[in-house]
Amino acid sequence: MKVFISVDMEGISGIVDPSYINPDTGSNYQRGRMFMTGDVNAAIEGALEAGATEIVVADSHHHLNNILIEELHPSASLLAGTPRDYSMMHGLDETFDAAILIGYHARHGVPGVLSHTMSGVIKNMYINGQVVGEFGFNAVFAGLTGVPVVMVTGDDQIADEASALIPGIHTAIVKTATSRTSALCLPLAKARETIREQAKLSLHNAKNIQPLLAQKPLELRIEFSHTGEAEMVSIIPGTTYHVGTTEVSYMARDQYDLYKTMRAMINLAGTVSFF
Ligand SMILES: [Zn+2]
Repeated sequence: MKVFISVDMEGISGIVDPSYINPDTGSNYQRGRMFMTGDVNAAIEGALEAGATEIVVADSHHHLNNILIEELHPSASLLAGTPRDYSMMHGLDETFDAAILIGYHARHGVPGVLSHTMSGVIKNMYINGQVVGEFGFNAVFAGLTGVPVVMVTGDDQIADEASALIPGIHTAIVKTATSRTSALCLPLAKARETIREQAKLSLHNAKNIQPLLAQKPLELRIEFSHTGEAEMVSIIPGTTYHVGTTEVSYMARDQYDLYKTMRAMINLAGTVSFF
């Protein structure tokens, strides 16, 4: 059994605010990296107990280079560094049996810990009219590749978001959000035990969890923060700027076109300053 594990940072056990996740300015960032590595090791242990024979871990936060490889479980290989065409899901293909998303967070506008969608420029993102955050976007990418997302870890808000999209998905709730930058956290040992147990159960149950599908062509529609971002993004060939809104849409032929175009859109929007 081949298992793909994508690891973001905002939903990691014990992490509540930007001091843990910002590599440049975060006073707790080095602790955050240890917490992140601890959560992913717990998932790897659960996967091995369920019979995984090959595990690829994709570091998926910021510069995609946070996990402490010197502390990583020796049974997994680590995809680290940037850029990658398919970012948080790069390396996933149809040979994998299941995907697990560790340390994920709620989408922009939901009162989860450190909630956002990809970067600060996106207010809402839709695939074929369905609002998606990072979880939903990556789950559609996996689904169209034929791989079910069987488990997510993070706060109570991302657990709800994931369960609404994928019936039967396993969740390990490691903290309960009390605001965007505070949470009631499980002790790390307890959180990791929960992750290990749910990872094992989710892989035992993987055959019963359906890949999240979407009809092709895929309509990607992104609502940006302001018109300047939308105008800049609409220089990408094939995009449509919906004048009078801050939305830009694009018809993607498949999940690969979808992912690369989304990245191009947010990277371009990120070059526009508000004032
Ligand atoms: Zn992140």
